[in-house]
Amino acid sequence: MRQYWAAKQQHPNALLFFRMGDFYELFYDDAKVAARELQITLTARDREKTQPMCGVPYHAAEGYLTRLLRKGYRVAICEQMEDPKLTKKIVRREVTRVLSPGTAMDPALGSSENNYLAALHVQGETAALAYLDLSTGDFRATEFSGPNALAQCADELAKLSPSELLAPTANALLNTSREISAACDQIRTKTPLEDWAFAKDYALPLLERQMGTTSLDGFGFSGHPVAAIAAGVIIHYVRQTQQTDAAHVDTIRYYERNQHMHLDQVSVRNLELLDPIFHEAGADATLCRALDCQATPMGKRLLRASILRPLVDAAAIEQRYEAVAETKQDLIKREQVRRSLSGILDLERLLARISLDSAGPRDLLALAASMQNLPQLKGNAAAFESVFWKMACERLDPLEDLSSAIATTLVAEPPLTLADGGVIAIGIHAELDELRTISHSGRSSIAAIEERERQRTGISSLKVRFNSVFGYYIEITKSNLGKNVPADYERKQTLVNAERFTTPELKEYEVKVLTAQERSVEIEKRIFGELRRNVIEHAGRIRKTSSVVAEIDLISGFAHQASLRNYSRPILDASPVLEIVGGRHPVIEQLMENAGEGRFIPNDLYLDSAGPSLLLLTGPNMGGKSTYLRQAALLAIMAQMGSFVPADRMRYGVVDRVYTRIGASDNVARGRSTFMVEMMETATILNTATDRSLILLDEMGRGTSTFDGLALAWATVEYLHAHVGARTLFATHYHELTILAEELKKLKNLRVAVKESPQGIVFLHSIEEGPANKSYGIDVARLAGLPSQVIQRARQVLKQHERSARRDVAVETEAAPMQMTMFTPISQRVLDRLEETDVNSLTPLQALNLLEELKTEIRGGSGKA
Ligand code: ATP
Repeated sequence: MRQYWAAKQQHPNALLFFRMGDFYELFYDDAKVAARELQITLTARDREKTQPMCGVPYHAAEGYLTRLLRKGYRVAICEQMEDPKLTKKIVRREVTRVLSPGTAMDPALGSSENNYLAALHVQGETAALAYLDLSTGDFRATEFSGPNALAQCADELAKLSPSELLAPTANALLNTSREISAACDQIRTKTPLEDWAFAKDYALPLLERQMGTTSLDGFGFSGHPVAAIAAGVIIHYVRQTQQTDAAHVDTIRYYERNQHMHLDQVSVRNLELLDPIFHEAGADATLCRALDCQATPMGKRLLRASILRPLVDAAAIEQRYEAVAETKQDLIKREQVRRSLSGILDLERLLARISLDSAGPRDLLALAASMQNLPQLKGNAAAFESVFWKMACERLDPLEDLSSAIATTLVAEPPLTLADGGVIAIGIHAELDELRTISHSGRSSIAAIEERERQRTGISSLKVRFNSVFGYYIEITKSNLGKNVPADYERKQTLVNAERFTTPELKEYEVKVLTAQERSVEIEKRIFGELRRNVIEHAGRIRKTSSVVAEIDLISGFAHQASLRNYSRPILDASPVLEIVGGRHPVIEQLMENAGEGRFIPNDLYLDSAGPSLLLLTGPNMGGKSTYLRQAALLAIMAQMGSFVPADRMRYGVVDRVYTRIGASDNVARGRSTFMVEMMETATILNTATDRSLILLDEMGRGTSTFDGLALAWATVEYLHAHVGARTLFATHYHELTILAEELKKLKNLRVAVKESPQGIVFLHSIEEGPANKSYGIDVARLAGLPSQVIQRARQVLKQHERSARRDVAVETEAAPMQMTMFTPISQRVLDRLEETDVNSLTPLQALNLLEELKTEIRGGSGKA
């Protein structure tokens, strides 16, 4: 227990797996947690049960460890460092590895997702975030400065949703800002590190050493020391927990947010880019799933990353369109590329396993088998001509030297581990071949001995066998013992039914065979180690090629999708326009198709910063307003990823940021009301959107009283129109807002079409010009099955309400029969007064009085409202 406490003290934040013989044991609180989480029996070391314990067999530990990591726990593995057979004292034990959710490497990791370990560092007004996927070597860092630095950093962190976050000791940093602490709430494992790990003099040299450089400028870190420190802290943690140098982590990328279309975490969630908002909708209800047809895990991970970081550089986008167009056009060439991709396994994760020493012979062989597809892929890629393909071909290293080194060194079907040999092929090492012949001939000699001894003794059931404890022996059944057992037989072991013997000759063979076996396993391990080192030395080449494979996979996936689903090539425009003709929602279209639920009704959209920049969409619930809004953003995102889009035609100017304010995203857990969240999101939009942005506002102002909500929505529309000029879609049930079109020149009313019939309403899901004149809320409620009494009563109440509103309204127009707003009556009365007045006949005093009266009228009217 002294050993146990010493190890536990070093790793107080981890569950300690303490190796005792064939088991890993856990004690005290660790035991209670593990027993609960793993559903294993909790026992105790003492009769009074004051020392709880539980354990798992060491050979089955992997599954248990994976489960604990997925649940967010850290685990320290304390191993026996000596062979218990060779010492009489208690064996020495040491913690050899610390496993944590952010450094997990197990095969159960989702192959199409990254598993990130993140580090956060703040200095003055600069906040930085670095993150590494140890299982692939993907390593990035970014920095934010200025008064909003913490909020921006928190947003990036929330979007990333890492499995584990490293931050300075205590939670001082995590509590400095509300945004940071909210983002951290979502991360299950937070690992505090001592402050010295964040010291510049420690973290920077560490990062430089890992990257094998003397300056980090080449990675884009010039002028960004805070980000470099955060990255250094990650290396510190990886080295400390893995106890290896993680050679495959040999490059890092510094990036800034404006290098991509900015999608904040609110939009990522609202637009269901990666995860569905309602899990009942199924995992298929996301953009990521709708576009997922990449053949390799690297391609799938790149797809996810591209969804989060669409391009903004027009030339880069065009280059992708060119490539997708060419690939889409030629089915045969495209399928050849996709076929060679399908044989490529997860190069990045295999490489990471090899570099972290957790790879067995089959991993190396899988790497070789994957690499063997590269020459063919290169050949197939060379058949295309566009710039993307030319560059991909140039950068794709077929790695033939490595794959053939592995394939010739290892046997075709090696065992899982090196423990019993049989991994290295014949003809690689002369001594190994010789030793194998010896152990082989030893075995055939044993068969000969058996035959000879049977004849010598006349016992036909005599057997010569081997087991690991007693070595080679001759076994004679009890019933035959009375027969002629030769004098040179030495008794070795007595069983219930038999006796086991040995002879000097047999001992000699045993030594020869066993030594040969031991020595050959030793040689095999050495050769395997050399092969592994050879692969690690070329890690950079493998990583580079793997990233080219990912890009090829992405582009050919886009082309496949475009051809399969009839997507068209978007047209990039210099002006901030968004024109969609015959557009479809990529996710709903596929879901409807899969469920055989009819066809998605295509619709058009035209937005332009110069006008109409603001579309006000009204119409019944369930009409398709939200769908129309989201579709616009999804198409913009797809287009800027370089993909073709589900539309007959799309023309657009690059979008710098997509903003969404959709539905009620309740955040009570974080201490904010629905309405507060809504207003905070709206504030962000009004304060930061540019005329290059795309804004979606769905049902703004619904979280408060009707008039407050309407007033806020009204003022927001005016502000967007006058000061922001972003392409904006505004869906609302406040029909009162539609009147704004008369004054705001760049605002246009749209409505979703419905057909009324005696049986009820039918949603046509098409978008028309003009305002909706009715909400159909009660019709929808009827469709939803509300009791008929409620429906009837609601209709009565509505009628009364409309009648009293009409009394207020001086003039009613055909287009807006239900204008029961606080705005129309007052402005109408004022307008009427002005209309009646003959300005030429007024004296200055009368004019002043009139002005005063009108003011009173307005004040009185508002007060009433
Ligand atoms: P609410 O005001 O209640 O939020 P809404 O007007 O925003 O309703 P949506 O949620 O967008 O309506 O759409 C309602 C339903 O109509 C969804 O199930 C959607 O799949 C379907 N739908 C929307 N647009 C179309 C379309 N163009 N073609 C076919 N189905 C559509």
